[in-house]
Amino acid sequence: MLLNSYEITRTLPCLADPEKIRVIAEISDEIHEVFPYLNAILKGCIYNHPAFTLTIKKDGKLFTLHAHHITLAKIEDEKEAEEILRWLKDLINETYEKRDQVEPNYSMVAELKALDIFKLLPGTSCKKCGEPTCLAFAVKLVSQEIEIKQCIPLFSDEFKEKRKVLLELLHAAGYEVPEAYLEFREV
Ligand code: SF4
Repeated sequence: MLLNSYEITRTLPCLADPEKIRVIAEISDEIHEVFPYLNAILKGCIYNHPAFTLTIKKDGKLFTLHAHHITLAKIEDEKEAEEILRWLKDLINETYEKRDQVEPNYSMVAELKALDIFKLLPGTSCKKCGEPTCLAFAVKLVSQEIEIKQCIPLFSDEFKEKRKVLLELLHAAGYEVPEAYLEFREV
């Protein structure tokens, strides 16, 4: 068994949907060894091999696996979080057990959509980035025609929660996030 146990350590408001929560669970064991196998068997994952992160999309929710913790977004309540964590634990352990039968996939599958990015921008369309709207900025960001640092308001205290999630998402999807900006992922 690769993953023995987990414990929910934080619940926060969900940024994408204020009626839902974001859940962070610490895990008992390092699990990154299974990521390339999960990346091979699940569709639409975002895998960052050097950073040891794997984001799984399921039923409109995002589950990000790190080496030592798991983050769940768009969750109804702790009961649902427990169900998802149980499912993830079984998936991780079953996949690890049959890893000899699976060809590992180390490629990054960056499936970030402009709308996913747009939801995490300030949403004021202030034009400080030179784009007419936040959506226009998101479209350019996803195609790497503009850099995240050009959204100056995002780096103010007001948007620290959105910033954390967006930088994490970009980093996990293999987008270049300057080292100096990674510290902004912390709340
Ligand atoms: S600077 Fe940021 S908040 Fe302002 S329009 Fe551009 S993306 Fe939107």
